[in-house]
Amino acid sequence: MTDVSRLPGSAQHHWDWQLRAACRGADSSLFFHPPNERGEARDARESKAKRVCGGCPVRTACLRHALETRERFGVWGGLGERELRTLLDPAREERGDRDAVCRPAA
Ligand code: SF4
Repeated sequence: MTDVSRLPGSAQHHWDWQLRAACRGADSSLFFHPPNERGEARDARESKAKRVCGGCPVRTACLRHALETRERFGVWGGLGERELRTLLDPAREERGDRDAVCRPAA
């Protein structure tokens, strides 16, 4: 018989918060920008997504996950991409380089 006692345990606790997410089943395009979306369109979409986050019971876990995995795309824990990047790399933001990772490859 195979001895599984030395295998790592379940990792379910890393993601089971998602089962209670307010965005569960929602259209992911609300949380992740389409190609070339800019300006007011992006701000409006992000605002709608953040309103969903505002009533989410797992907002803290979501934001923690985004920061731990250095998530730079999408709305997570009620924060948009610029806000996430500011938390992840404040020096880059201070240099005014905040959109550098969004530029298409040359
Ligand atoms: S905080 Fe927002 S993105 Fe995160 S799980 Fe809740 S609704 Fe979804």
